[in-house]
Amino acid sequence: MTTMVQEKNVTVPKKGKQIYEGKAKKLFETDNPDLVIQEFKDDATAFNAKKRGTIVGKGVINNKISAMLFQLLEKESVPTHFVKLLSDREMLVKRLEIVKVEMTIRNIAAGGLTRTTGIPEGTKLKKPVLEYHYKSDELDDPLINMDHIRELGIATEEEMKQIDKMTLKVNELLKAFFAKAKIDLIDFKLEFGRHHGKILLGDEISPDTCRFWEQGTGRKLDKDRFRRDLGDVEGAYEEMLKRVSEKLS
Ligand code: UDP
Repeated sequence: MTTMVQEKNVTVPKKGKQIYEGKAKKLFETDNPDLVIQEFKDDATAFNAKKRGTIVGKGVINNKISAMLFQLLEKESVPTHFVKLLSDREMLVKRLEIVKVEMTIRNIAAGGLTRTTGIPEGTKLKKPVLEYHYKSDELDDPLINMDHIRELGIATEEEMKQIDKMTLKVNELLKAFFAKAKIDLIDFKLEFGRHHGKILLGDEISPDTCRFWEQGTGRKLDKDRFRRDLGDVEGAYEEMLKRVSEKLS
């Protein structure tokens, strides 16, 4: 039996069984094979789940921030998996076959770039630096290149060209957006997937997946507060929700 609810011109399908549980989200099937429900949790992990904790209210905040940013990107012709917000912690998204590459893009040196190259944290990069990381918990998401992607059969050259272009475009759009909120977008991670042969931006865009530094003070307003035990983690997430909401209202 299926119950279809008509709401704001989008047919909201019925939530079905859980198909996946990740570190920060759960996925549920729906009675529409093209759509799934993404549910955001408060669980936080770092260093490939060696560090675990809870950030109270994070799931609600990441769901809301991601929804607003996906809508902003859609308006600028970036195709995403976002369909609509369903509740505080749930969004309806298009089902994707995930491309197993984490796309990292950096504007200012921090984290992994500082560790692998020695470029000091806070150095402004001449051009955005794009990295591919193989999405594999067992291998600890290693840094890979296009040759590795081809050998592993992760994606075609054509698909990767398109994904690179979309990642660079998202970076330009988000950098400009966050600058209006007096935030420097240091770096972030995106994931893409295939939906009926088309590449869409998937996953989430939130303080879990981006580094945000307040302009002027350098105050970190992202998951680094959890990773590095900087305190007031919840406050940082709330501040980012406030800034994003203000700039979009
Ligand atoms: N990132 C992420 N998930 C990961 C690894 C990184 O969302 O599994 C994000 C991270 O929040 C940061 C960017 O990608 O904004 C670059 O992370 P980096 O490679 O510097 O790794 P880290 O220092 O977090 O280990």
